[in-house]
Amino acid sequence: MSQSLRVLALFAHPDDAEFLCAGTLSLLADRGAVVHIATMTAGDCGSTILPPQKISRLRVKEAWRAASVLGAQYTCLKEKDLLVFYDRPRLSKVMELLRRLDPSLVFTHSPSDYMLDHETTSRLCQTACFGGMAPNFRTGAKKPAKPLRTIPHLYYTQPTGSTDILGKETIPSLCVNIGETLGRKEQMLACHESQQAWLKSQQGISGPSDSMRKMAAWTGALVGFPWAEGFRQHLGQGFPPNDLLSTKLGELVRRREV
Ligand SMILES: [Zn+2]
Repeated sequence: MSQSLRVLALFAHPDDAEFLCAGTLSLLADRGAVVHIATMTAGDCGSTILPPQKISRLRVKEAWRAASVLGAQYTCLKEKDLLVFYDRPRLSKVMELLRRLDPSLVFTHSPSDYMLDHETTSRLCQTACFGGMAPNFRTGAKKPAKPLRTIPHLYYTQPTGSTDILGKETIPSLCVNIGETLGRKEQMLACHESQQAWLKSQQGISGPSDSMRKMAAWTGALVGFPWAEGFRQHLGQGFPPNDLLSTKLGELVRRREV
């Protein structure tokens, strides 16, 4: 794999990338990709004990620690939990990040997911990928990055829990075998120490690792892998139609018709 493959994983909150695609990011990093993880927020609502500024500072540190397990960089776009809106300021931020990093491969949330921060992040990311080439979209940054030369390959992860808000299962079209990186994914999740208590009290999740393994086993069972992460590629007008993820990961990817 070329050293120059650049990968961006843009998610709403710290720990989302770790839950949803860290195994695949690890595989790509092992094959020479330069990986960047970004979150819209610092996770300021992710605590019942600490005030927003304190929990945000802690979670940004945790996100950096998790990214460094892969040798990845991390950016927080400093939005607020439950307030990720689709509007000009947020789109400008996402667009500027995308233009600055100029990735070939982008991962984000499923367009239909369990909460709106995730869905809005997905839409912001989709538009930034599509519109990144348009020079007349100005982000207002002091030193704006150049417009993109091509639209990147965009992949949606599974929604958290693999269902939409009506409980309907979302079946991925591509499953990546993460057997060799499951341990690293677990290690990255464990960096988010502040979330252990929060996930238990707010969502009834007793062990993030158990919940992650359950999802990875469910996804793997769809295609005969022990552990997998699932994706769907954005194939709308203008986006590249070839499956770059399968090209890069070869036999570690199994496709299924959905
Ligand atoms: Zn989230």
